Amino acid sequence: MNLNEKTAHELHEMLINKKISAVELATDVLNHIDETEKNIEAYITITRDEALKAAKSVDEKIARGDKIGVLTGIPCAIKDNICTKGIKTTCASKILENFVPPYNATVIDKLNTINPVVVGKANMDEFAMGGSTENSGFHVTHNPHDVERVPGGSSGGSAAAVASNEAIYALGSDTGGSIRQPASFCGVIGLKPTYGRVSRYGLVAYASSLDQIGPITRDVTDCAHVLNVIAGHDEMDSTSSTAEVPDFTKSLVANVKGLKIGLPKEYFIDGMDVEVEAAVRDAAKTFEKLGATLKEISLPHTDVAVSTYYLIAPAEAATNLERYDGVSYGARVDGIDVVDMMKNTRSEKFGEEVKRRIMIGNYALSAGYYDAYYLKALKVRTLIQNDFTEAFKDVDVILAPTAPTAAYKIGEMISDPLKMYLQDICTVPLNLAGLPGISVPCGFNSQNMPIGFQLIGRALDEATIIKAAYTFEQYDI
Ligand code: GLN
Repeated sequence: MNLNEKTAHELHEMLINKKISAVELATDVLNHIDETEKNIEAYITITRDEALKAAKSVDEKIARGDKIGVLTGIPCAIKDNICTKGIKTTCASKILENFVPPYNATVIDKLNTINPVVVGKANMDEFAMGGSTENSGFHVTHNPHDVERVPGGSSGGSAAAVASNEAIYALGSDTGGSIRQPASFCGVIGLKPTYGRVSRYGLVAYASSLDQIGPITRDVTDCAHVLNVIAGHDEMDSTSSTAEVPDFTKSLVANVKGLKIGLPKEYFIDGMDVEVEAAVRDAAKTFEKLGATLKEISLPHTDVAVSTYYLIAPAEAATNLERYDGVSYGARVDGIDVVDMMKNTRSEKFGEEVKRRIMIGNYALSAGYYDAYYLKALKVRTLIQNDFTEAFKDVDVILAPTAPTAAYKIGEMISDPLKMYLQDICTVPLNLAGLPGISVPCGFNSQNMPIGFQLIGRALDEATIIKAAYTFEQYDI
């Protein structure tokens, strides 16, 4: 097996037993990127020199006999909306094409404490708006299982990098499914933590009340290790939780005996792909065989989750994206006066989807429509949260498909935004409720494309969904 195909915890063993060096490992992954990238295009920026330098310092640490963490020296990819000091952070937008942040996101500072080897900044839908990575301002990323298909999105570059062995693990962000859905399309693990579990400081904001950073990995063990490093309160993010962070590797125990799993009937909807439904129901049966109990539950407001999300997210996005005015950040296109300059900059440098959302958001927030749309959406958001609170009185976790289909062909949906939005039906409710979810691979369809299911947990109970996912993974091997 090539080094670049292994998990972080396997490579860690090899590093501490001096079977490989960190430079050898980084070189192996970078060479593999050189060969593979022309087909996959997972990255916007490849940080070869920085990666080799970081790997060299890891080798020096090991030579000195210093203790290293499981992720020390392990090559990783960072979604390009997470600020990296001195390294371009574009959000896949022409408006930030040359933006080099003067500071690190908190997750990067946290990662730096364990000496990571960052090999590049991963492609994404512009400002994380989309579910296919086709909305990138630079290029489309291809699904490693079939390069004619999308990798999902918006963290499509991160998921494709992990699935194509161009990174051992990656960080993504999830506002309405952008970690879980690409993980499911690419056949890897993706976890959206509870809102507030991980600091958003330095994550370029899309919709601030929904955004969360999380891990995309090859297996559940690596996922627990990454979450251990990035989780925790941050005084730079007032919405980050002060709750104690457990050691998530303690959840790597294969045991679901007595676990009560809810299957929400509204998630197995008409129009859902039959192969996806069969694979997800099979996964549920596997849990039953392993000693869990299944119960059909109802989350009655699921049918309005997409419309609620597509009012709240664009409203917050319109507000957050006001800052790109040709003055404070990024690109400027000149005009005859300042207003003309702003208009030219935003018209030319934002892509179609971003402009569409700014229009929807500003419309929903405008004086005449605020009560009818935005305020109404906030009320429905509470109803969706209440649905989960009710459901969790009876069950410990909820099992559902991650997406209604497997990866589709590039170009298949891009001209129909509404169809694309409806694809988010299974993922957006968690963001609206702030709950954690993990997407786990559970087989392939007849076109050999991966299928994933998600486990949804109570707020701040990532531990239980990690344990259940780990149990499934052990059984599945
Ligand atoms: N597909 C959803 C959207 O377009 C989710 C994106 C995300 O989670 N960043 O908004």
